[in-house]
This record gives sequence, structure tokens and C-alpha cells, in this order.
Amino acid sequence: MIPLSLPAVSEATMPYVARLRVDPATAIDEADAVLVVEDEEGASFSGLHGLLTLEGVCADALEGDVMLVQPDTGRADRLLRHGSSHNTLLVTERCDQLCVMCSQPPRKTHVDRFALFEQACLLARPNIVIGITGGEPTLYKDDLFGLIERVGTVRPDIEFHILTNAQHFEASDVDRLRQDVFRRVSWGIPLYSHEPARHDEIVGKTGAFDRLQRSFHVLLLAGARIELRTVLIQDNIDDLPRLARLVASRLRFIESWSIMQLEKTGFARNRWAGLFADHKVGFEPVAAALDYALLHGKAVHLFNFPRCTVPAQYRALAPASISDWKRKFAPACATCREQDQCCGFFEWHPDEHANAWISPL
Ligand code: SF4
Repeated sequence: MIPLSLPAVSEATMPYVARLRVDPATAIDEADAVLVVEDEEGASFSGLHGLLTLEGVCADALEGDVMLVQPDTGRADRLLRHGSSHNTLLVTERCDQLCVMCSQPPRKTHVDRFALFEQACLLARPNIVIGITGGEPTLYKDDLFGLIERVGTVRPDIEFHILTNAQHFEASDVDRLRQDVFRRVSWGIPLYSHEPARHDEIVGKTGAFDRLQRSFHVLLLAGARIELRTVLIQDNIDDLPRLARLVASRLRFIESWSIMQLEKTGFARNRWAGLFADHKVGFEPVAAALDYALLHGKAVHLFNFPRCTVPAQYRALAPASISDWKRKFAPACATCREQDQCCGFFEWHPDEHANAWISPL
């Protein structure tokens, strides 16, 4: 696993953002911190906030990374890795839903770092897509919209992909969301069933389905780009064909639909036996949903579906979707000829399950 948080010693007293530079000639912004010394213990950089020492790393691997340095905790987070296309900002850990399979269980407290995240976005490499996640980012809708507007104005090359439960969009947001900067935002929104009661039960919030429909109306009026997301669990896998009908009729305005296999972390870690729906032995509802969506011209993808667990005719819909920093392959994958096209597994997925499940191609 690629470490996203590093032990750090800093002369600063307050959190700050810095971009690391190994070659002084590439330091063009006052937020650039330049390498001064490197040894077997780590690398030290000098910048506006004094000396920063990162332990146990090679400086070359950090070239161009945008870091959030937190002197109080002795850590530095690699917010935007220069060589990666998987960069996500966790803007809050608060959430107003409690999904039964949540991979990032919420916390009650919020630490406001929007200003630091905005600085980080402005230092990003050109043409990057920045993910924003939580918790629920739209609990801080004004801060979020403000960040998008200011960064989008100065850096029209940057796009955002924002995960949201879409419980907080209002009619009064339409004009703001119609601005050009929001054309470069894609909203990833979960919908788990065509049945309101089942969706509400899965997200742990009465009325969530109906509130979501109101938000869809707002987003439709605003011309927002939407990626619909459905995580498969035992409770909703048989709903997929009916959900596909809903997607192809009342939700025709969505850009794409992602059907996602469960991640064994967060709440799903201890509830795996009661949640995991094995699509390899029961692909029929997934196939029916895919067929219907494709027939009606919807873009549909299978995320976190190892290629060999998917029938051959649907494998083209299952990209290498797991982010590089948390992806691994099982020992049994060693002989597979299609590893480069496969999502593999999350780093925390048990090898015993993976080895027993897969059939190398
Ligand atoms: S054997 Fe491993 S690499 Fe090959 S398709 Fe299956 S999960 Fe992917």
C-alpha cells in the first residue's frame, strides 16, 4: 500500500500546505518547499514555514506532491500526489446518514480545513481530477461551493468529482450550480434501490429516498453532471433490474451508473457475512440490470468487480477501478494474463477469500 500519511517534524506551529520540490529550479510558488538534505532516515525540505522533515521516504517519490503538514500530530498527508490519478480530499467526517455498509464510518466532530484544501487545489498539477469526499461534504455546502467557485475561476483546467448523499440541495441552489465552474463538477450520488423503504433502511435515514428525488430535481434544473452509485449487498442485489428501469426512465439525465461491489472495511468489516452478495454465483440480476441500462443508452460500469468473477461478455464494463494506493492482487493472481486490466482487490481484502473466489485468466 502506498502511504498517504507520513511521520513529519516541522518548525511550524500551525497546519499548512506545501508543495515538495526536489529540483530547486521547479520551485515557482511561495508554497513550494525545496529539498535541502536526504539520508537513509528521510528527507528535509525548506520553505515558507521553515524546515520540514519527512521520515522513512525517498525524496524523489514525493516530487510535486502537495502536502498538508500538521505539526500538532507530527504527520504530513499527501493530499495530491503528483504521479497519481487518484487524489481525494476528505473535507469532513460528519454525515447525516448511517449506511449499513459505510466504508468510512462518520464521526460527530468536524475540523474545518476548507481554506487549506483550497490552497492545495491551487497548487495541483495541470488537468487533474480532484475527488472530494466525507462524511457528507454538502453539510458544509457554502464552504464547498465557495471552494469550487474560487478554484474553478483561477484554475479552469481542474475538474472535481464529489461524493454526496444529495440530501441538502435546495431550489435556491440552482442559479449557483448553473455557473460555468460547476460544468467541471461531477456528483457521485448513491441510490440503493427503486423501493424507497429499502433505500432508507440501507442508508439509515427515514425519508432519504424522497429527499434524494427532490435533490435530483434541483440538479436536473441546474444541468448538473451525475454519476449514480449503487453498492451491492444481499438486501438490494435482487432489486437491480427494477432499479435499472428507474434509471432508464425517471433518471435519464444521469451521466453514468456505477454498480459497485462491497469494500470489506468500515461497517462492512464485521457485517461481511450478512452483506456480501456474491455476484459470481448469482450474476443474473446484475446482468439483467446491465442489459436494460445499455439497451436504453445509459453508460454503466462495474466497479470493484475482479475481471475473472464477471462473465466474459460483461468484462469490458469492469475497469481497473480501485485506486492505486489501496489496490493489491491476491497471491493466486500471479499467473493471470489480464492483471493489467483488472481492479484487483482492496488492500484490506482477505487473501483467503480472494484466492478461493478467483479463476486466473
Ligand atoms: S485472477 Fe486476479 S488479476 Fe486475474 S482477473 Fe482474477 S482477480 Fe483479476
